[in-house]
Amino acid sequence: MAHGLVRYRKDGSIGHLPFTLHPWQSPPGFYAHGARVSPLYNKLYHRVSQNRAFLDEHLAASRAVDDFVQGLYSCLPDQPIARPWLYLSRHDFMPAITPQGILPKQVETNLMAASLGYASQRVNAAIRFLYAGTPLGSSVLPHRGGSTICKGLALAYQHYAKAGEVILFIVPPGEVNAFDQRTMQAELVLEYGISVLRTTLDELGESGEIRDGKVVLKGRSASIAYFRGGYSPDHYANPDAWKGRRLLEHSQTLSIPSVTIQLANTKKIQQVLSHQPTLEQFVSPQEAAQLLETMVAMCPVDGPIQGTTGRQAALADPEGWVLKPSREGGGNNYFGDDLVKQLKELTTRQAHAFILMESIQQTPFRAVRLVEEKVVDNLCVTELGHFSYALWEEAAAEPAFQDTEGYLLRTKDVGNREGLVLGGFSFLDTAAID
Ligand code: ADP
Ligand code: MG
Repeated sequence: MAHGLVRYRKDGSIGHLPFTLHPWQSPPGFYAHGARVSPLYNKLYHRVSQNRAFLDEHLAASRAVDDFVQGLYSCLPDQPIARPWLYLSRHDFMPAITPQGILPKQVETNLMAASLGYASQRVNAAIRFLYAGTPLGSSVLPHRGGSTICKGLALAYQHYAKAGEVILFIVPPGEVNAFDQRTMQAELVLEYGISVLRTTLDELGESGEIRDGKVVLKGRSASIAYFRGGYSPDHYANPDAWKGRRLLEHSQTLSIPSVTIQLANTKKIQQVLSHQPTLEQFVSPQEAAQLLETMVAMCPVDGPIQGTTGRQAALADPEGWVLKPSREGGGNNYFGDDLVKQLKELTTRQAHAFILMESIQQTPFRAVRLVEEKVVDNLCVTELGHFSYALWEEAAAEPAFQDTEGYLLRTKDVGNREGLVLGGFSFLDTAAID
């Protein structure tokens, strides 16, 4: 509590976040490798986001069966509006067992609402404090994952905003992860002198308007809309929310992410990009090889893989695969028996809304954590996300600025497939890095 590791419980009371009591030992080279390849992922996704024809081609079949993807499409203006392209991302990797040793294999890139940066830097501080003066303490490097994303946002504001404009924080109604966002809001005000207006898409749809090109809410003109919601269909339960999203897309307010960036960030596009020739449409052969080294096999449900179809391969080996819809925010994937059940029910047409991804295998390790004030000690696996930001001016080849610093480490029981911290599936961890 003293370190600010707090969250709202469902009943509105406040408790501590689930967190580690002992740092995780990062395998040699694992952290540096993921940090090195993260800016390359930003570059890849930037180039993909700019290529509407590519997105349209590869999302056509999903769009026909997935109302959410179609909903996003319906927000796009006929003519694209020229704005800078901002990425505040988190690139998630697992320490995978491979024939070449332990390598970072990508779970996904988050270009939207990449969260828990501050919670993560606080766990890091709490653990360094707990082990201060011991060799273990000095092996835990300080990091500032939350402040890194905040800096990306502040630099984008300084680059793009006119005097007096605000940054909109788009949050879902009833957000439990509010403290992570409030810290960022405070840092923007205190460190950078930037005003923040917190709102929901519903409110924006109801009361927002476009004036002189920018979205205006409560008399304040917004240079940037920073999304911490809007990634789930639940956030559009009220039709006004779509109105709000459309308003932003039709303005010069820089949305992070814009709809095109969000479409590029779908699991479908991640799957399409998992081939050297496709990657080479966007980056050099050498860069494509570096990206591919961090990917596992992915395929369409009824697409070809290893001499059979994805569906057949996954039904024959359900533990070897994960079935994923084009959704963000956790809790949407199918594993094991659920995967089998779902694959038996999905028609070929419905299956276009999903992809299959090879399950990343890792060696379980012992971890000790604190959950609701109780110690839990058992075998776990983990996932490390590198925070990163980059901004490209329209048509610029190189980013105006970029950086990769800080991480989110989420660890969970070996038998637990999903990774949600606030959903109670995993806990905040920190790494001893050699
Ligand atoms: P979301 O966008 O909902 O966060 P992810 O692709 O990150 O979707 O998947 C959610 C969680 O499921 C991950 O954090 C991880 O714990 C687990 N997971 C996803 N893909 C794999 C995979 N290929 N191998 C093992 N676990 C996976
Ligand atoms: Mg994820």
